[in-house]
Amino acid sequence: MSKSLFRISSKYLEAENFERELEAKIGVKHAICVNSGTSALQCCLAALNIGPGDEVIVPAYTYMATANAVLAVGAIPVLAEVNETQTIDVADVEKKISKYTKAVIPVHLNGHPCDLDSLKALCDPRGIKIIEDSCQADGGSYKGQRLGTIGAAGAFSFNYFKIISAGEGGAVLTNDDTYYERALIYHDTGTAYRPYAEAMTEPFFSSYNMRTNEIAAAVLREQLKRLDGILEDLRRVKAEIAAGVKLNAGVHLTPSNDPEGDCCTHLGLIFDDADRAAAFAAEVGGLCLINSKKHIYINWDPMLNRLGGHTEAMNPYLDPANADLNKEINPDTCPVTLDILRRSVNISMNPDWTAEEVAEKIAKINAALGA
Ligand SMILES: *Cc1c(COP(=O)(O)O)cnc(C)c1O
Repeated sequence: MSKSLFRISSKYLEAENFERELEAKIGVKHAICVNSGTSALQCCLAALNIGPGDEVIVPAYTYMATANAVLAVGAIPVLAEVNETQTIDVADVEKKISKYTKAVIPVHLNGHPCDLDSLKALCDPRGIKIIEDSCQADGGSYKGQRLGTIGAAGAFSFNYFKIISAGEGGAVLTNDDTYYERALIYHDTGTAYRPYAEAMTEPFFSSYNMRTNEIAAAVLREQLKRLDGILEDLRRVKAEIAAGVKLNAGVHLTPSNDPEGDCCTHLGLIFDDADRAAAFAAEVGGLCLINSKKHIYINWDPMLNRLGGHTEAMNPYLDPANADLNKEINPDTCPVTLDILRRSVNISMNPDWTAEEVAEKIAKINAALGA
């Protein structure tokens, strides 16, 4: 029992403690630490009983893992446009709903909260579940509630590129006891022999090993203590830069569904003209979003090639249960998204920037704007 790095037999209880601390910090009944954000999304989908025969609406602009997770449980991802907020366009979600739609995955991409009030108003009366992909928005909030806790279930990532990190890692969040039990089973190879399993009422089904370990959890406990401070610094830096930027004709800042809850990992600018956006991005060292690679559906090769699984029988695109589902994905599927991404530029914010570095950034942006 001593010096064990295995969370189940460890006396240190790093993973156990991290989960309880995450629940308290984020304000959610249940958290399960897993090995990645992708795993967390799969757990959410499995927890909600989503599989072959089901459509899940995802934004056309998100890291490919969002759509991959849907395919991994045997369901079909259906693309919806994003709007200028860089998040899912609820009006387009409405157009994509069919009798097969089981869930929508709003993605709080680049730390920007989705329009969850409108999405809930659309989905709740129809019995369509909301799974929040909060992998790029650990700790962010929407109207005072932390992201990942507002839908039926939510996913965090602790990958190297995210707001807090252990190199790799993720978490499932839910307030629902049944979803929690099913996610526990799904992430822990069936889980039936764990001490905690005795009190569970959900049947044990076969599944995967997505567990975390004591080293990752120990790192995450320290990271979690810093989360609010990191967000505070990001929000201060972004506010200072936004206040110093002199916008001229033909450019505006990326709007937010909740500026106070936004993680402020990025400052976004939207130009009327795509060429101007590209030139601006090159000059300030920002990213013109059309170059976001695997974050745009036109670069999701496995989906474009209909290779949704490792064998034909396990490829949801070929599954007879999905015969009548909406499997459309081609470069023309979401033209509004492509137009917005061509005209949008993101500049990454750094929570550690000094006042001088902030001033340098502002000067560089204004010079590139010709302001
Ligand atoms: C990073 C990310 C994921 C996947 O998280 P991993 O920990 O890398 O598996 C899912 N969705 C979005 C939006 C992400 O940015």
